[in-house]
Amino acid sequence: TFKAIRIDKADKGTTAALTQFDEAELMEGDVTVAVEWSTLNYKDGLAVTGKAPVVRRFPMIAGIDFAGTVAQSSHPDWKVGDKVVCNGWGMGETHLGAYAEKARVKGDWLVRLPDGMSTREAMAIGTAGYTAMLSVLALEQHGLTPASGPVVVTGAAGGVGSVATAVLSKLGYQVIASTGRMSEADYLKGLGAAEVIDRAELTGAAKPLAKERWAGGVDSVGSTTLANLLSMTKYGGAIAACGLAAGMDLPSSVAPFILRGVCLLGIDSVMCPLPRRQLAWSRLASDLDRRKLADITQEITLDQVVGTGPKILAGQVRGRIVVKIV
Ligand code: NAP
Repeated sequence: TFKAIRIDKADKGTTAALTQFDEAELMEGDVTVAVEWSTLNYKDGLAVTGKAPVVRRFPMIAGIDFAGTVAQSSHPDWKVGDKVVCNGWGMGETHLGAYAEKARVKGDWLVRLPDGMSTREAMAIGTAGYTAMLSVLALEQHGLTPASGPVVVTGAAGGVGSVATAVLSKLGYQVIASTGRMSEADYLKGLGAAEVIDRAELTGAAKPLAKERWAGGVDSVGSTTLANLLSMTKYGGAIAACGLAAGMDLPSSVAPFILRGVCLLGIDSVMCPLPRRQLAWSRLASDLDRRKLADITQEITLDQVVGTGPKILAGQVRGRIVVKIV
């Protein structure tokens, strides 16, 4: 057996607890990984609290991402001792997940840990940071450069937002960080934000078009915030939509698209194809300042995960939380 956070179905909703899990119960897969670090993402908060139906199979081991060392492999690309990162692919939802000393997955899901990056650093980045990088890649593919104009990051003090702010500023962008926690203005400036704005400016009902303020953006909030972002995007600009911290809805109009040629870029980290993941992780190795990464990271242990879940849903977590497995 090994230690794991197990989610079970209950009369009402689900239960989550740190227990022993039987190795024989692990699901199919051609690689077994000794997990060293995991993280607490927004989706993990939903899973451990049962606030949204993230978990689709019971019993489940929660946790959507891990970094660790290959312990067993029948996959041609992986051998014992290889250092790997795994994000999404249904882990913690339909496939037994990451809050465990052992994980068995498909070798095709794994990304090699970039040279010079530790397993702890990889999980300090985690799915939130990898998604922030997927968003940056999408903006670059759109043609955005620092010369295009400022970029906005919403939910800036959260996980996706903190990494997006740090990466975009390192790449030379003028970053406008939007937050509901103006008390974190110094933190955000430390990550490289040129300007910090109160998210209240972006939460009212959006006009079809408003004054042009930015050439691009990374939005982890959704709802009226994303609608306002679009209405304030410069001619030809683009917003990468990756989150729903304020809601799934999008009360917008087509005006930004048809009158300003603005593009809305959808970002999914879960089923993202392997080559794009590899690119994102190699760019995280080169374009994220490790000192800034250390500044945004807090560490908890496996037995603190369930208790910390409600805090991330309440928007009370700053930056990223890594979970020490062993
Ligand atoms: P997080 O650390 O909790 O960050 C979310 C941030 O959003 C909060 O820190 C807060 O930032 C802001 N926020 C929270 N509630 C809000 C509200 N009601 N209205 C406006 N802003 C609010 O979570 P995360 O792990 O970075 O994830 C962020 C979002 O991205 C989540 O919705 C998550 O599901 C999504 N996500 C999607 C993918 C994907 O594949 N597309 C991958 C990873 C994450 P401030 O205090 O600074 O305002």
